Amino acid sequence: MARVNSNYLKLVSRYLFSEVAKRTKEFVEKNPKAPVIKLGIGDTTQPLPPSIIKAFHEAVDEMAKKETYKGYGPEQGYDFLREAIAKNDFGSRGVQIDPNEIFISDGSKCDTGNILDIFGQNKIAINDPSYPVYVDTNVMIGNTGPAMKNGQYEGLVYLPCKPETDWAPSVPKEHVDLIYLVSPNNPTGTAIPQKLLEQWVKYARDNKAIIFFDAAYERYIREPDIPHSIYEIKGAKDVAIEFRSFSKTAGFTGVRCAFTVIPKDLKGYDEKGTAVALNDLWNRRHTTKFNGVSYPVQKAAAACYTPQGAKEIDGVIAYYLDNAKIIREGLKKAGFTCYGGVNSPYIWVKTPGKLTSWEFFDMMLGKLDIVGTPGSGFGPSGEGYFRFTAFNSLEKTKEAVDRIVKFNWKSI
Ligand code: PLP
Repeated sequence: MARVNSNYLKLVSRYLFSEVAKRTKEFVEKNPKAPVIKLGIGDTTQPLPPSIIKAFHEAVDEMAKKETYKGYGPEQGYDFLREAIAKNDFGSRGVQIDPNEIFISDGSKCDTGNILDIFGQNKIAINDPSYPVYVDTNVMIGNTGPAMKNGQYEGLVYLPCKPETDWAPSVPKEHVDLIYLVSPNNPTGTAIPQKLLEQWVKYARDNKAIIFFDAAYERYIREPDIPHSIYEIKGAKDVAIEFRSFSKTAGFTGVRCAFTVIPKDLKGYDEKGTAVALNDLWNRRHTTKFNGVSYPVQKAAAACYTPQGAKEIDGVIAYYLDNAKIIREGLKKAGFTCYGGVNSPYIWVKTPGKLTSWEFFDMMLGKLDIVGTPGSGFGPSGEGYFRFTAFNSLEKTKEAVDRIVKFNWKSI
């Protein structure tokens, strides 16, 4: 009898975005002429900028010639990319990261899930609401009990984020071992300011805890007091792993490239309390279970760090942030309370009246032909909220906002 991993049976519902896609598909099948605008899933829409595409093509051409053909590459990534990251993403901010502390991968979704492979049983805290992968991967690996009626899983510590703190999670009173922080946050679009991140690093140092810092939206940060990397905080290299992705930075959602930083000084502990270097453990895991990102993709990623590539990427990000501003201001005009959209492509909105997140989803789709994402899908603290993304075209974004502004909200 082949047994399944019964932890999977604890997962309460299908993955949030699959449910959004399913409901949208059903709606479109019933209403084929409806002019549906999608401001739901956080997927980029603008093509890869010219310098990135050029580097990508050139690398593909190299694969066509005997002299330049490449087979398996280093699992951890090519030096040219690791060195460019160390210099441009960290060195330029005064942070010393060695290229050997950087592991190139095919996505932060995989990395934030797979990282659990190298950890044992721990008390785990997750900021709520946040990217659903953190909770679900902990359920899958057996770090939780069953789902409870309040929408939480037994055994996890939820760090409820509240509007009063602009959705930034406060340091808990209790002890935890692993902490997921995401800044700028998906879904709330808000970021963790320097002072609060300092408190988190102190907490982690005092508790011998480790912070998983997901900075997938780092490039969207505009305000000066928001750290781009957790390693900008003194002492963080002893207590934090950072995840970064080219997905939202450079339109690589379909191309796939990301990286994880595990400093050499970062330690976990075995059963006897002996310190173990996490860089070594992850290196072992990565080289055993992963065979590297393709050469052309890494060449395309490296082109993001050329002066021209960086300029082009910044242009695309500015385009999305302009859309975010249009959504934020339009929603405010229509009387909504909203957050985010300044340092990120997400706008987080309080649903009107007593509507739940999913009721508002159905209403937006049914009456305005607009798809967004229900906040409750990102954790119990997201109930009563809704996420819009700025990833659609300027024209579609304006049209959606126009519909929202013109709608008679008193009628619901
Ligand atoms: N982390 C956060 C916070 C995200 O919102 C996303 C994607 O939406 C990811 C990670 C996944 O990134 P990737 O495309 O690199 O897997």
